[in-house]
Amino acid sequence: MEKGRELLIFERSSPGRTGVRPPTADVPEVDLDKVLPKGAVRGDIEGFPEVSELDCVRHFTRLSNENFGVDTGFYPLGSCTMKYNPKVCEDASRLSGFSRLHPYEPEGLCQGALELMHELEGYLAEISGMDAVTLQPAAGAQGELGGMLMIAAYFRDKGEARRKVLIPDTAHGTNPASCRLAGFDVVEVRSSRDGILTPEAIERLMDDGCAALMLTNPNTLGLFEDNIEKIASIVHSKGGFVYCDGANLNALMGVARLGDMGVDLVQFNLHKTFSTPHGGGGPGSGPLGVKKALEPYLPVPRIRKNGDEYSLEFDRERSIGRLKAFYGNFSVMVRAYAYIRLMGAEGLKRVGEMAVLNANYLKERLKGHFHLPHDRTCMHECVFTDRLQRRYGVTTLDIAKRLMDYGFHPPTIYFPLVVDGALMIEPTETESLQTLDEFIEAMKRIAKEAEEDPHLLKNAPHTTGTARVDETRAAREPVLRWTGSPPTNPDHCT
Ligand SMILES: *Cc1c(COP(=O)(O)O)cnc(C)c1O
Repeated sequence: MEKGRELLIFERSSPGRTGVRPPTADVPEVDLDKVLPKGAVRGDIEGFPEVSELDCVRHFTRLSNENFGVDTGFYPLGSCTMKYNPKVCEDASRLSGFSRLHPYEPEGLCQGALELMHELEGYLAEISGMDAVTLQPAAGAQGELGGMLMIAAYFRDKGEARRKVLIPDTAHGTNPASCRLAGFDVVEVRSSRDGILTPEAIERLMDDGCAALMLTNPNTLGLFEDNIEKIASIVHSKGGFVYCDGANLNALMGVARLGDMGVDLVQFNLHKTFSTPHGGGGPGSGPLGVKKALEPYLPVPRIRKNGDEYSLEFDRERSIGRLKAFYGNFSVMVRAYAYIRLMGAEGLKRVGEMAVLNANYLKERLKGHFHLPHDRTCMHECVFTDRLQRRYGVTTLDIAKRLMDYGFHPPTIYFPLVVDGALMIEPTETESLQTLDEFIEAMKRIAKEAEEDPHLLKNAPHTTGTARVDETRAAREPVLRWTGSPPTNPDHCT
């Protein structure tokens, strides 16, 4: 094997080599040229790689070894909750009674699946303090969109023209996007110097043209919105709803309920908090919970329980309709169900406590080595900046790249946008004290390197398969198509 760069599968191709032998046909052979229109049958697929099974297995196994995942090492990506997901939950989702179900299975033959979904809705309602939950949305962002569509339908029914939604300046980008998609105008709310919302800021902006306040608690700075009850009562007094982005529920789960704080709608990211691995593009699941007033607007179908029988209800006059084909991503629901049953109420509470403890431990131990813009107790994540390192010419990006040399996945960088040069660290509850200490040691060494040898950081990483890439050039001149001949400069194969 060529050292340093895995060949493309096309470069391994050798004419006539093959990795599959199709079974002998057990039906009469037909000449395709006779049954298909002229020119519809290809004699060859140009450039199609011809490799053996072993070539193929080795190629993709080597590529997979270049990946970094939570099963490989510490992955403190803020706002993402990259925690370890128990393998037993994977196992449950693969049980053939679940995994081989067809979405058109008659209700009578999938009572177990409906029961599981119905119970999961109940657990999520209990955890969040909501009255009803739909499991349909396929992602957090789709849950947000569903919630905003329901709010729009509610006010349409009431004949009220409320066009605005208030969103804090720390919000995740999906929040304003979901609101715009549902037809609302976004009004930005400035956070205070302490990094949280003040009742005064909401009082100033909230009027009867506002349909909702969409906030995140804990917010994306990892801080608890201390004024949430006061803020919710201001929004309610002007007839609006409070939507909470519950993508990261790790800090509150089992400890405090958003519904008790005045929140009317919340989406859960099962692929963050409830045991589905993510980061690879899906599938996800973003169930949406609502209070009573909005229940009639939930998407169809709803799962109904009648005695011991479960059924699907489609005929609901005020529903916003379907959000997703069938019922949502079922295998993710099975993992979440298994996880909640595995942890139990006490276990979920302990998750919240440990997630918060771990983040505060990191914050306290790194304080002084890195600039901490909001020096107060944090929730499940903490945000540092590169201010102390910048005087040596070292930036957040350099720190993140250098961490890879120490075997850690970098934290979230340059988010939230309101913090200049942000390094947003979310350790999660699943990491041991030993791992946290190793990470702290690496971060301290990087702080020292910034002082003594900034050049080392500017060129990091040094030990990974791919060195620092030119991100601007990759974005401006993307090479997305295989051109048929081996590239002369391997750096072009992005
Ligand atoms: C991840 C995340 C989202 C979006 O969730 P998706 O499932 O990726 O659509 C929204 N808000 C916050 C705070 C998040 O962390």
